[in-house]
Amino acid sequence: MPRTVALLLSLAFALPAHAEGFITRLLNKPVPGGVAVIAAGHGPQAPQVRYQDRPALVIKEDGRRWIAIVGIPLTVQPGEQQLQVDGRPQRFRVDAREYRAQHITLKNQRQVNPNPDDLKRIAREQDEQTRAYRQFSQNQPSNLLFDRPVDGPLSSPFGLRRFFNGEERNPHSGLDFAAKAGTPIKAPAAGTVTLVGDYFFNGKTVFLDHGQGLISMFCHLSAVDVKVGDRLGRGEALGKVGATGRATGPHLHWNVSLNDTRVDPAIFIGAFKP
Ligand code: ZN
Repeated sequence: MPRTVALLLSLAFALPAHAEGFITRLLNKPVPGGVAVIAAGHGPQAPQVRYQDRPALVIKEDGRRWIAIVGIPLTVQPGEQQLQVDGRPQRFRVDAREYRAQHITLKNQRQVNPNPDDLKRIAREQDEQTRAYRQFSQNQPSNLLFDRPVDGPLSSPFGLRRFFNGEERNPHSGLDFAAKAGTPIKAPAAGTVTLVGDYFFNGKTVFLDHGQGLISMFCHLSAVDVKVGDRLGRGEALGKVGATGRATGPHLHWNVSLNDTRVDPAIFIGAFKP
């Protein structure tokens, strides 16, 4: 290859990398259950970005360009996806990611095959939680590189295909931290408490809205120390680790949602493994 061509080629590949900012490098993991960071122009106004008919989080990166930060559902097939930037279609690629299987034994068979009354309760609770995930407040997240909500090692990763007593159920929608019952849980970024509940599967639960559809859910708590409407600063305590709901022992289950899509929380704490 002639030298000049090689030089031009290396420049062509080097330029996009230089154009990427810190947030893009940190969060852009375009896989099912991951996050796509999409350049969305340099206009004076923030563009309106929609993906799968839902509004997406848009911020200004490095004070110079708009980026959309979009959650990709676990059910999306690798390949081309499309979103709308001010109504104009824009394409992006989703790469493959393998998710392992996990087998869990529960003594309480009702947590595997709930009875008809349980199913009614579960449906009601799912509606309530879906509404909380669909809220889209206009405030900007205080930080996109999250703090870990508890001190403790990561245990079950996001996206595991789960079998309870041999029966396949929904994949693991969050990230688990091993921690003793009573360990304080801290807000990974500032947020408003939008929902507090005590649910069949999730146990005692807190929803924290960080802004523009970026929402955390904390489950299986032994104690909840906040109420709906509370504004929490980054690092403020919201409750304590427990084992309420469908849990085999004390741990924190943490969901992170963008555009009503549960994504791998490990991305936001710099712990993502492809
Ligand atoms: Zn979990």
